Amino acid sequence: MSAEKAGHRARKRFGQHFLADPGVVDAIVDAIDPREGELLVEIGPGLAALTSALLARLPHLHAIEIDRDLAARLRSRYPPRQLTLHEADALRFDFAAVAASQPQRLRIVGNLPYNVSSPLLVRLLGFRALVRDQHFMLQREVVERIVAVPSTRDFGRLSVLMQAFYEVERLFDVGPQAFDPPPRVHSSVIRMRVRDDRLARDPMPLQQVLAAAFAQRRKMIRTTLLPWLEARGAARPPLDASLRPEQIDVPSWLRIADSVAAVT
Ligand code: SAM
Repeated sequence: MSAEKAGHRARKRFGQHFLADPGVVDAIVDAIDPREGELLVEIGPGLAALTSALLARLPHLHAIEIDRDLAARLRSRYPPRQLTLHEADALRFDFAAVAASQPQRLRIVGNLPYNVSSPLLVRLLGFRALVRDQHFMLQREVVERIVAVPSTRDFGRLSVLMQAFYEVERLFDVGPQAFDPPPRVHSSVIRMRVRDDRLARDPMPLQQVLAAAFAQRRKMIRTTLLPWLEARGAARPPLDASLRPEQIDVPSWLRIADSVAAVT
């Protein structure tokens, strides 16, 4: 249903672009492949395009919606036994509170508000021990950055940070016409599976190293990263000093983060 037909005025500040193409909704739900007994959390259900398709396959789900009017509509449409609605900002939401009630790990899904997607992805890192996977619709450029390989234009902080902790997979692209109102950008759907082999790692040293190195991504590490590491007493990585940060692969970044963690 279009937002106008539903009697809702899309709010720009909440990044509201509602999915209006049933084929795209089905493709996303097929990709998620939800099964009874799983613990799903949807971020930003909006007018329930995804929510209703998910609830056709699942008896219950959690959803987090910041917009009061939309939250009220969702509450009147779905009883709590089907939908546990959290009227909250996903950027401040305590995902651990949902996980605490159940033995299963969370499956987080959503057609995310693009204005908050990067901070949200970073915040979700902190909950990843409680999460199995994430399926998100994001701005296409953000997905391209997340899945990028070294020595390409898109490879940067977000690529390293996300690939360090998730197996990432770009699933398919979605054009602006699939939404109401249509956004100015193209979108893509991504699958992110938590890497259990890296659950014990604290993301913070990696975040610090990446912030220091990628602040000047065109400069050789000789003038940026290496002096930064030396000032902290961290071991010098066995890398060519003329490399630029975008040429360094994820395993090497993890080793550098380990050397920082060892001295802090
Ligand atoms: N899932 C719906 C769909 O596919 O049609 C709506 C998607 S729309 C791009 C983003 C939704 O996220 C809106 O319902 C918006 O109100 C909600 N939203 C925006 N910022 C939010 C936040 N910080 N926390 C929770 N929900 C948020």
